[in-house]
Amino acid sequence: MFDTLDQVIDRIGEGKRFLVIGHIRPDGDDISSVASLVMILRKAGKTAEGCIADAGSPFLERLDRNGIIKDVDALHDYAYDTAITVDASELVRIGDAAELLEGRPPDITLDHHKSNLGFGKINVCDPAYAATAMIVYELGERLVDFDPDLAEMLLLGIATDTGFFRYASVDERVFAYAARLVREGANMGRITEAVLEHRTLNEIRLTTAMLDTLRLSADGRLATAYVTAEMIEGAGCTDDDTSGLIGEIRSIAGVEVAIMFIESSEGSVHVSLRSKQTVDVSEIALQFNGGGHARAAGCSCAGGKLGNLMKEVTAVAQNAIGAAFATRS
Ligand code: 5GP
Ligand code: MN
Repeated sequence: MFDTLDQVIDRIGEGKRFLVIGHIRPDGDDISSVASLVMILRKAGKTAEGCIADAGSPFLERLDRNGIIKDVDALHDYAYDTAITVDASELVRIGDAAELLEGRPPDITLDHHKSNLGFGKINVCDPAYAATAMIVYELGERLVDFDPDLAEMLLLGIATDTGFFRYASVDERVFAYAARLVREGANMGRITEAVLEHRTLNEIRLTTAMLDTLRLSADGRLATAYVTAEMIEGAGCTDDDTSGLIGEIRSIAGVEVAIMFIESSEGSVHVSLRSKQTVDVSEIALQFNGGGHARAAGCSCAGGKLGNLMKEVTAVAQNAIGAAFATRS
C-alpha cells in the first residue's frame, strides 16, 4: 500500500520548488524533519521552504537555529510545484498549513506513525523507523553530502523521538545513523542541552501543580493527571511549556500507561498518551479521533469538557490495560 523511497527520489527529481510541511504542536522529530529536508533540497540545487503552523513557539525557535521554518502567513505567496508533509499522520495534523495546499493532496508524505493511512500522492510511512528524520536521512544520503549543520539537524529527530536513545524503538539502525551523523560533525551535547536542559522555573512550578492532580488506578498501571488553562496561566506558562509533563508521570515505577490532559487557553483539550511495554495507546487515541504510535499517541478534543473527557479516556484505558494484562496472566 505504501510507496518506496525510489519513487520519492524520482518525484523529487521532477520538482524545482518545494514546500515542506510539518505538524502542529511540533516536537523535535517534526522540526528536524522539516528543517533537514529543506536543507537537503537546497543543497541538491532546489528551491525549498519549510512550514510549521505553530512557528513562533520558543521550542521551535531554539531548535531551528538557522531560522529555516516559517509560519503559514510568510508563505501564502510562495509558488511551489511539490508539497511534502513530514511526520504528520493525517492532514488535520498540519493545522492551518493546509491552506497552502489549497485543497490538493500533498505530492509526497513521509511518516512513521502506525495510524497513518496515506493521504498524499506518494506515501512513505513505515513504523519500523524510530523517527521520521531517519527517512529524511536516507533521502539525504542519496541526494547530497552531509555537513555538520545538516547532520546535527537530522540527529535532533532521532534523539528526541527515541527519548534520547531510551525507548524500545531503539534498534541497531538508530545507533548506526546516529554514529554516522556524529562522525559528520553533529554535536549531541548541544542537542541535549537545547531540548532537556531548558526548563524554566515556571515549568517546574507547573509540574508541581500537575503532580497534585496525579491519580493511579488499574493496580498502579495507569497514571493520569491534568493541567487546566488556569493552572498553566497561574504558573506563568504557555501551552508550549506542557510537553514535558507526560514524561514525569510515565516514569513512575509500575505504570504501564500514562495519560496527561492539557486544557488549552482556547478551551480545547489535548490528551497525551504513553505506554512502556504492552498497551498500544494509538488504539486508545484512535477512539477519540487521534492517533500516533503504540508507545506515544495523542488526540485533541475541541470544546470538550475536561472532566467528562478524563472519565471517558480513563475508562477506555483501564479496559485496555485490563484486557492486555488478563491475556498475559
Ligand atoms: P504528544 O502527546 O506528544 O502530543 O503526541 C504523541 C504522539 O501522538 C506524536 O507522535 C503525535 O504525532 C501523535 N499525536 C498527538 N496528537 C495527535 C492527534 O490529535 N492526532 C493524531 N493522529 N496524532 C496525534
Ligand atoms: Mn516522529
